[in-house]
Amino acid sequence: MGWRLNLLPRYLVEFRSKRIIHRFTDVLVIGGGLAGLRAALACDSRLDVLVATKDKIRQSNSNYAQGGIATVIDPADRLEWHIRDTLIAGANLCDYDVVKMVVEKGPRCIHELIEMGAQFDQADGDLTLGREGGHSHNRIIHALGDATGQEIMRAVINRTKSAENISILEDTFTIDLLTDEDSCCGAIVSRNQQLQMIWAKQTILATGGAGQVYRETTNPPVATADGHALAIRAGVTTRDMEFMQFHPTVLYIAGGSRSLITEAVRGEGAFLIDRDGYRFMPGYDARAELAPRDIVSQAIVAQMEKTHHPNVYLDLSHLDSRHIRQRFPGILKTCAEFGIDITQDRIPVRPGAHYMIGGVVVDTQSRTSLQNLWAAGEVTSSGLHGANRLASNSLLEGLVYGVLAGEGASAAALEDPLPNVLRPLEYRHFRSTRLELDLADIRNSLKSLMWRAVGVRRNAGELAAAAETLVAWQRLFLTQPQWTQLGWELQNMLTVSELMIVAAQMRTESRGVHFRQDFPETASEWRRFICFRGNTPSLSPILGEQPNLSVP
Ligand SMILES: Cc1cc2nc3c(=O)[nH]c(=O)nc-3n(C[C@H](O)[C@H](O)[C@H](O)COP(=O)(O)OP(=O)(O)OC[C@H]3O[C@@H](n4cnc5c(N)ncnc54)[C@H](O)[C@@H]3O)c2cc1C
Repeated sequence: MGWRLNLLPRYLVEFRSKRIIHRFTDVLVIGGGLAGLRAALACDSRLDVLVATKDKIRQSNSNYAQGGIATVIDPADRLEWHIRDTLIAGANLCDYDVVKMVVEKGPRCIHELIEMGAQFDQADGDLTLGREGGHSHNRIIHALGDATGQEIMRAVINRTKSAENISILEDTFTIDLLTDEDSCCGAIVSRNQQLQMIWAKQTILATGGAGQVYRETTNPPVATADGHALAIRAGVTTRDMEFMQFHPTVLYIAGGSRSLITEAVRGEGAFLIDRDGYRFMPGYDARAELAPRDIVSQAIVAQMEKTHHPNVYLDLSHLDSRHIRQRFPGILKTCAEFGIDITQDRIPVRPGAHYMIGGVVVDTQSRTSLQNLWAAGEVTSSGLHGANRLASNSLLEGLVYGVLAGEGASAAALEDPLPNVLRPLEYRHFRSTRLELDLADIRNSLKSLMWRAVGVRRNAGELAAAAETLVAWQRLFLTQPQWTQLGWELQNMLTVSELMIVAAQMRTESRGVHFRQDFPETASEWRRFICFRGNTPSLSPILGEQPNLSVP
């Protein structure tokens, strides 16, 4: 198709296996968020399981989740309605079988979390069910009001720490997957400023999202797309890289925190108003503030342009202030730090990168295209979200695929009775001399470039210019060996940004979260995936028709 992608090094570091520290395990889990820990817990207790996470175990997107988990618990709700809502949000690009499987497994996953000690909000002994954009029924289970992630991670971390067969290695940065004879045999990591090889019979990738490639994001600093990039370098198939979901309402105070203001706030009846106090959403969509996220994000950007203002506002002043205080204690506290009383004052918000839909392709067992490598959670593209994720479906996906990956990897490891062998791997690549580069400057420039060119609205001119700039930065930076986490993260961000730009250029239509100003319509011939094997793009076959399901 004429797309030219830069040649990537296979590994970001040089090594010789004879001169390095080695560890051995049955199952290596890379990432300690919900998907990774749920995978570790699903492994057979006879196996040695090692969870490597680059920061403290609490640092993950999972821990920051606010709104909750979508699942069909209310007897008046139906699995078919949740399936249908997911398919509608996914803009005709979901894999129906995956959606059905995940939705059906949902209630059991919640039950398991409760068994682990997670305490969800209740009223009169029943779970309280919230409503979010795109859902036709109240089905969002939440905890501590708006700190669902914190509570479920508390329960899952406690359970993991008490499992004798699972060890957690914090502050352990995975640089690359180790591969030999077309199969994955572990990973090379940096720990205490030393390289180590972790040899594993089976490896599970659960490194989460990529929000940090954007200037405006809800994601914590760990979300630098490492897992996506190391999979690309290992030749693992990825897909949907053009689909980054933007959350419409991120607190915007220049120089201040970019905290998410959960969709549940709009679910409770908050209005979106512009600088003049005008409630603009009904003019853009009949569902008003509860329209899907892509529509709300685009409407906000349009209204910001119209009013020449850097943000719009959330207005809760007409709602019962006592209820708001109880329901959203976290948001109340964060906003209060900036002198905003959410029950009376307007909250300044604008969109920010929130959820990476694209990632490593997994089948319905959680297997990737690389032998002995499994993946789960936000780093994957399972087919659940299509071109747009339905609110609160991602924690659910992490739970379902975490279990699948853990069970699958565990069964495969048990079938292999031989002890791990150390293979004589080595890698020499970098020739260029080391330049003194300002990593923070390149990182900030990249984040601004991505926000401008591959943000809520895209067009051919901006994308082409961004691609040119990016290739120049890559030539400079991907050819340089790095010795720090900051350097490797930046190399990963540059690698993943390129695929995001190329995929956004290729998809000459608007669908779900991908909005092209120069191709505003959805085109039926684009009902297909853009896949990358390594960094070479190809198109996958069109999916089968999706059934029509009735909804109330
Ligand atoms: C503010 C916010 C609110 C959200 N609210 C909701 C919600 O209400 N409902 C919902 O369904 N979803 C929500 N989401 C999305 C959801 O939280 C995530 O999609 C989900 O938690 C991802 O889980 P995960 O386990 O795949 O990744 P994460 O939870 O991000 O975990 C990734 C793990 O990998 C580790 N890691 C990354 N790179 C490396 C590396 N190189 N080496 C070693 N370790 C590495 C990280 O340190 C981390 O431990 C929200 C997201 C955010 C940011």
